[in-house]
Amino acid sequence: MDQRDDGDVRAVAPATPGRVVDASKLDLAAAERATRDLLRAVGADADAPDLLETPRRVAASFAELLTPAEFGATVFPNEGYDELVLVRDIAFQTLCMHHLLPFHGVAHVAYLPGDSIIGLSKLARVVEFFARDLQLQERMTVQIADWLEQELAPRGVGVVLSAEHMCMTIRGVRKPGARTVTSALRGSLRDDARTRQEFFSLVG
Ligand code: ZN
Repeated sequence: MDQRDDGDVRAVAPATPGRVVDASKLDLAAAERATRDLLRAVGADADAPDLLETPRRVAASFAELLTPAEFGATVFPNEGYDELVLVRDIAFQTLCMHHLLPFHGVAHVAYLPGDSIIGLSKLARVVEFFARDLQLQERMTVQIADWLEQELAPRGVGVVLSAEHMCMTIRGVRKPGARTVTSALRGSLRDDARTRQEFFSLVG
C-alpha cells in the first residue's frame, strides 16, 4: 500500500475531547515541587544528594508520558480494496489513571475500508496519541475505535488491546504475566459473524 504522506491531511490536536490531561496546562515547576513533597511524605530526605535531581527527572518523565504528538490523519481515496486492513502488535506504554503506574502491551487495529483508506503509520500514531494520557485500557480501546470511525467512515473497525498493568503485577494482587484484553468493534466487524471471525483469527 502507498505510504507517501500526500493524501488529505487533517490535524489531530492534543486538546481532543475526552482526554484527561490537557498538556497545554503542564506546569513543570509545580510537578517538581509536588515530587519533592511526595518524597518527604513517603519518609525520604528530599535534600539527600542522591535525590536532589529526582524531582526534575520525575517532572520531565510525566511531561513526556502525557504530551501527545500532533499528527495528521493522512487519508487517500480507496481504489477498490474491500478486505480488512490490520496493523498488528503496535507496542504502547501508558499510565493507569487509578495508580499512576504504567501499563504496557500491544494494540491490534483494523478497519474495513469504505471510500477512504488511511496511511498505515497513522494507525500506530493514533495508538501513541491516546497512550499519552492518564488512561484506562477500556477507554483507550474505545477512543481508538471512535477516532477511526469518525476520521475514515469505514465499513467496520476492530481494535484489540492486550496489556500488562504494573498496578496488578508489582502491587495489589501481584500477578506478573496476567494480561488484560479489551476489544471495540464497530460496523460489520461487530454485526457480521464472518468478518468478526476473520479479524480475531488474524489478531491471533
Ligand atoms: Zn491501575
